[in-house]
Amino acid sequence: MRIDLATIALLGALQALLLAPLLLAATRAYTGIARTSLRLWAAVLGLQATGWVLASLRGRISDWLSIVLANGVLMVSYALTTHALRMLLHLPRRRRLLIAIGVLGWLGITWFAVVMPDFRMRVYIAALSLGGYLALLIWPLRHALRRGGSTAQRVMLLVLGAASAVWCWRLGRMVLGVDPSSGLLDPTPINTAIMIYSAVEPVLASIGFLLMYNEAVQAELHRLARTDPLTGTLNRLALDEEARRLFQLAAEHDGGLAVLMIDADHFKAINDRFGHAGGDRALTALATCIGRHLRASDVLGRAGGEEFLVLLPEADAAVTDALAERIRQQVAQLHPVLDGETLTITVSIGVAARLSQDRHVDALIRRADRALYAAKRAGRNRIAALPAIPAHERD
Ligand code: GH3
Ligand code: MG
Ligand code: MG
Repeated sequence: MRIDLATIALLGALQALLLAPLLLAATRAYTGIARTSLRLWAAVLGLQATGWVLASLRGRISDWLSIVLANGVLMVSYALTTHALRMLLHLPRRRRLLIAIGVLGWLGITWFAVVMPDFRMRVYIAALSLGGYLALLIWPLRHALRRGGSTAQRVMLLVLGAASAVWCWRLGRMVLGVDPSSGLLDPTPINTAIMIYSAVEPVLASIGFLLMYNEAVQAELHRLARTDPLTGTLNRLALDEEARRLFQLAAEHDGGLAVLMIDADHFKAINDRFGHAGGDRALTALATCIGRHLRASDVLGRAGGEEFLVLLPEADAAVTDALAERIRQQVAQLHPVLDGETLTITVSIGVAARLSQDRHVDALIRRADRALYAAKRAGRNRIAALPAIPAHERD
């Protein structure tokens, strides 16, 4: 059976061309990184289609178009692919490196197309550039998969791995001198493999991309559903979840868990003086100040209004009291400037630590709450802890 490689390349291009507008239409429903990465992928498909159409017209149009322009367009598409996927993986973008690989690769290919025509050198350079892009994706993906990873990431690694394998095969045969230096459209087995892979790649890679994209959007929605929009700390829902989780963990190992219930003093007066927007700015400054004193394993969330809850795993009473006192002092020295006026915010803090008799995290939080009100009654701008309640009075 004789396979016409130009036709295969055109079929691949056609698939990419059909997919691109569909993805572009879907971007309307999204915002932020989700929208940008989806648009980038649509652009990638459009560019790949253009590149392969130009490449498949080799001999029928000038080499400037079928080699120089085609490879330029394909290089841009590989750079954008890498950029879009690194964006979804929340990796540093490495824009300069992506551009450098593409520009150097394209200049090399142009040199060996126009100045010293040499098909072998063009394949080496194309493979080197593509290898650079693939490494920038395969390396972090393997790393992510070693730490668990997801099905979407596995699919993408498979697609990228297949691309690497095809190009390694092509290079290996060339280096060993098995393949004569023929053009990319000569129907040798390796050229056929490359063309078939290139033709199905837009669909395979798009499936991998969409799976990864879906995961990224889900993760972002999950994060948003657990975040307080004003202060960026955990919201009530997430705080309850974390409190239950940490309590369970502490109960299993009979480990420490302490809680700080922090409430801004006379916050109503701040709102009355500076308006709700001014109060919002003061709340944000307060949350940032509290967060600065916490360890990575500690949890900070907004329990409601001007009240924050801090969960301190593995913290003993002495450390907890010292931390609460440090937070109280630092907040009092915060002095945010609102409408040109310097303001003093103070907080009252209720402190409680898990007792071995505690059956549920609510008991611990209620104790912190009662301690908070003791601090309020005692005059505010202070910390308080309640003595343990005798077992027969406990719920
Ligand atoms: P206390 O020292 O007894 O805690 O006095 P307080 O004025 O802080 O307490 P109170 O519960 O009477 O008032 C809390 C105020 O916090 C009233 C409410 O408008 C304000 N507040 C709650 N949530 C927000 C918010 O998201 N933004 C702003 N600006 N104000 C808020
Ligand atoms: Mg208050
Ligand atoms: Mg309050």
